[in-house]
Amino acid sequence: MTGAASELCQRCGLCCDGSLFARAPLLPDEVAPLAARGLPATAAGLPQPCAALEGTRCSIYAARPASCRRYTCLLQAALAEGEVDLDEALAVVAEARARLAAGEAGEHLDRHFRGRSALR
Ligand code: SF4
Ligand code: SF4
Repeated sequence: MTGAASELCQRCGLCCDGSLFARAPLLPDEVAPLAARGLPATAAGLPQPCAALEGTRCSIYAARPASCRRYTCLLQAALAEGEVDLDEALAVVAEARARLAAGEAGEHLDRHFRGRSALR
């Protein structure tokens, strides 16, 4: 992940806070280490809003599960491919938060934040 993509994700968190998913799937050998950190990890996954999320940042970023590492949403891909810059991407995140607060985010989330990964 590029530095800009990493910064976007650390300032977004929509794929961690329950806006998009009910849980992050875990590999069998990921459950115990996460549980040892005090997180509610089970074979069913890591529930969202994720207990490791602090604001919009992942507090275990270097040790996050494989499904979190692999998740690439359409906005992150657009940033990586130079279709939008970081400020534009953060504006899309801000719009998503405003729409979520208004209860009308569905289409916006589908257009920008759904993933290309089948893991979630
Ligand atoms: S929804 Fe996309 S931009 Fe936001 S944290 Fe997840 S992968 Fe990053
Ligand atoms: S472990 Fe980190 S990256 Fe994965 S869902 Fe939780 S906060 Fe998000």
